[in-house]
Amino acid sequence: MAPKTVLIVYAHQSPSSFNAAARDVAVQTLTAQGCKVIVTDLYTMNFRSAATAADIKGNLKNPEHFLYSDETFIAWKEDRLSDDIKEEQRKVTEADIIIFQFPLYWFTVPAIMKGWMERVLTQGFAYTPESIYDNGIFKDKKTVLSFTTGGVESMYLPDGLYGDINVVLWPLQNGVLRFCGFQVLAPQIFWCVADAPPSERTAMLEAWRARLKGLLDEQPLSFAPTKLFDLSLQAGFRLRSDMKEAYASQPYGLTTGQHLGKLLPPNNQTKASPNENH
Ligand SMILES: Cc1cc2nc3c(=O)[nH]c(=O)nc-3n(C[C@H](O)[C@H](O)[C@H](O)COP(=O)(O)OP(=O)(O)OC[C@H]3O[C@@H](n4cnc5c(N)ncnc54)[C@H](O)[C@@H]3O)c2cc1C
Repeated sequence: MAPKTVLIVYAHQSPSSFNAAARDVAVQTLTAQGCKVIVTDLYTMNFRSAATAADIKGNLKNPEHFLYSDETFIAWKEDRLSDDIKEEQRKVTEADIIIFQFPLYWFTVPAIMKGWMERVLTQGFAYTPESIYDNGIFKDKKTVLSFTTGGVESMYLPDGLYGDINVVLWPLQNGVLRFCGFQVLAPQIFWCVADAPPSERTAMLEAWRARLKGLLDEQPLSFAPTKLFDLSLQAGFRLRSDMKEAYASQPYGLTTGQHLGKLLPPNNQTKASPNENH
């Protein structure tokens, strides 16, 4: 197998945190496998999270009505994005797989990592209106969310106080990563690390180490194939009518998001088992 390049986008303020330990396990294990590992350490870099006109060098096309996606699209085409964005885009281009390592903040990534997504995954570089989902620009790359939680696993069950983790993951995994075409691998979730006894924490890191050895060959999560949708404004980009008919008798919807008003397919955003419904 040709050596692979791994980008770890890492967000934690403390080098003695569990997240730092999970990052280090990934660096050690993947490097030992012959991978080139690049780490973007967002807090150490003081990475700017706000998507503003400061991200564009030179004149804006429409300073009276600044539109971030339009202006960054033009700036990307003309090589006028700010140096920090260009450097991260260079790393993404080089990477075969991106690992996002972070503590769950308010059911999503920390603001500094959301800023990385907003500022680095610009129009033109990461997507165009035509190049999304199955036709996405990064369809040959893999990605995985690796994160710690404050809550225990049972809080994130479909009857748990916090609610179904599959629903929590949908915006990031489908709305950001799969949107850009990435093959999204099952998330690595370290539940409630602060309250776990030391032996359990060590076991969690060892399980991550074992998974990392085969990570690059894993099958991605199942998402709805783009071809099942009628991709026209007139049709509203909705599920094709023949597919609606085919699903009418099914107990489950297609995915966590495209649930069709039915039961959510279990573990759709957490396990890579193929969805029998499609
Ligand atoms: C703004 C904010 C929003 C939040 N929102 C949510 C939310 O929506 N949902 C939710 O569930 N939680 C939430 N949390 C909680 C947060 O997700 C957890 O605090 C975080 O995930 C814990 O990870 P950590 O790396 O900071 O743990 P740490 O506290 O750094 O580590 C936990 C323990 O692991 C130990 N450790 C470090 N290295 C190792 C090692 N090598 N081996 C073994 N042990 C080690 C540490 O010493 C510590 O005792 C939120 C927190 C904040 C601040």
